[in-house]
Amino acid sequence: MDQNNKKHISHDTGYVWLAGAGPGDAGLMTLKGADLIRQADLIVYDALISAEILSMIPPEKETVYVGKQAGYHAVPQEKINQVLVREAKKGKKVLRLKGGDPFVFGRGGEELEILAREGIPFEAVPGVTSSVAVPAYAGIPVTHRDYASSFHVITGHAKKDGTPDIDFDALVRLRGTLVFLMGVASMGQILDGLMRAGMARDMPAAVLERGTTARQRRIVSSVGTLKEEAQRAGIQAPAVIVVGQVCALSETFCWAEKRALGGRQFLLTRPRQNMSVLAGRLRALGAQVIEMPAISTQVISPNRKLKEELSDFAASHREKWLVFTSPIGVAAFFGQLAEMKLDIRQVFCMAGKAKIAAIGRATASSLLERGLVADLVPEVYSAAALGEKLADQAGTGSDILVARAEDGSEELLPPLLGAGFRVKDVPLYRTVCEMHPLLRQKIENLLENGEIDAVTFTSRSTVRGFAQAVGNPDFGRIQAVCIGEQTAGAAAEYGMETVISDEASTDSLVEKIVELYGNSQEERYDII
Ligand code: SAH
Repeated sequence: MDQNNKKHISHDTGYVWLAGAGPGDAGLMTLKGADLIRQADLIVYDALISAEILSMIPPEKETVYVGKQAGYHAVPQEKINQVLVREAKKGKKVLRLKGGDPFVFGRGGEELEILAREGIPFEAVPGVTSSVAVPAYAGIPVTHRDYASSFHVITGHAKKDGTPDIDFDALVRLRGTLVFLMGVASMGQILDGLMRAGMARDMPAAVLERGTTARQRRIVSSVGTLKEEAQRAGIQAPAVIVVGQVCALSETFCWAEKRALGGRQFLLTRPRQNMSVLAGRLRALGAQVIEMPAISTQVISPNRKLKEELSDFAASHREKWLVFTSPIGVAAFFGQLAEMKLDIRQVFCMAGKAKIAAIGRATASSLLERGLVADLVPEVYSAAALGEKLADQAGTGSDILVARAEDGSEELLPPLLGAGFRVKDVPLYRTVCEMHPLLRQKIENLLENGEIDAVTFTSRSTVRGFAQAVGNPDFGRIQAVCIGEQTAGAAAEYGMETVISDEASTDSLVEKIVELYGNSQEERYDII
């Protein structure tokens, strides 16, 4: 526990946050919820938490899954209560993360009762509830001045005898929008009950499956026909049933599926450190994005080889080039200099004529942030182009120190060695894979069900990291969108279908994804 938090939370008994994670789209997680993911010592979550949200949990964080697993029942509520109490009493800060809002049919009240009884301090952190957000993503406003002046959220969960305990007469009299959660299994009884209580057969009604996620589906119909249409479409839980005039607005207002990448889900395998830009761009276009935490970079430290090579480099009287191939490499390099207490002037200003080459724009701007202007950046951002251009420009007999990832591209060195330079290849960082087993399982299931449209790869090491992390899926069914020929080559070796972005940049990768997976203008208006 860091000092800061100790000041806020003075209880040695630990703490529990009962928080809602929203209905699936990671953008609907509250700022407070996202912050708690970082603060908590332990996260206790269940089945409704989407892979997109799970991927926000750092891999080293302790987690307990208390939802259903294939073939097993959900963990009984009593067991969940026990976990919360036991872990909080150990002094842990526990984040109890639930789908939607914790108090809307989330049994949050029961969990607080036990915490209160045990004297464990807690906070309730509301979430965006599916009862409002799922209709919103289907273009259904739950109230509207002209059509509904109230909305009512009702559980469709059946009692032991199989019938839901609902006062249909009272509901029909309210004349507001009715939102049923947990109602897929008893949909027939709900709709019949409403009609028996006097609701018109042609009252608009909708069932909305997996709302706010890439796989959301909506059936908009009427009370008299919804069940049959839902059955025909094979609608399954989780889904909400909405009954009321406002459902008729869906055709005009539905917007989520019409976004350029609406209905698409991508798995990004970039190292965590520089993932958010690509993820943000794809999300802004409507995609659901799982940021695979399997792959992160680990700086090699202490780096004896770097130290030795740098001292040779500094002392050399020839023309000499320091070569960078990624922003992470630049950061790792300067981190190591700081650790070695080595002044940059000792590297560049001792002897000879030192120059710097960068593989592309992002790497060059990382250097610029540190006061270094790259002398050479190839027009085409690739390892091969960098090697060729440098071979062309460097003076005869130059010393070249390549500071990059372990296992870097094989295409960089041959042109340099071919030109007779003295080349030193110094690894600064390596790619490591770590992932929660449950997130792994979730990702494996998504891949198996064809629910991931494509996986993006930006280097060979991300391909390898991904393959190591996900076990042995049917690689032939995976579409890989890659930066660079080599990356694509590595993906193809596993049997993946590959596409290469035109340029080695995030912009170009996004363009390629929109070109391949974007909804065409017509399609955007033609979903269910
Ligand atoms: N606390 C949650 C509801 C828990 S009850 C909330 O506030 O949203 C579980 C029910 O919520 C499901 O059976 C389904 O009816 C509904 N639900 C939750 N997430 C959903 C989603 N993404 N799409 C459709 N229905 C959802």
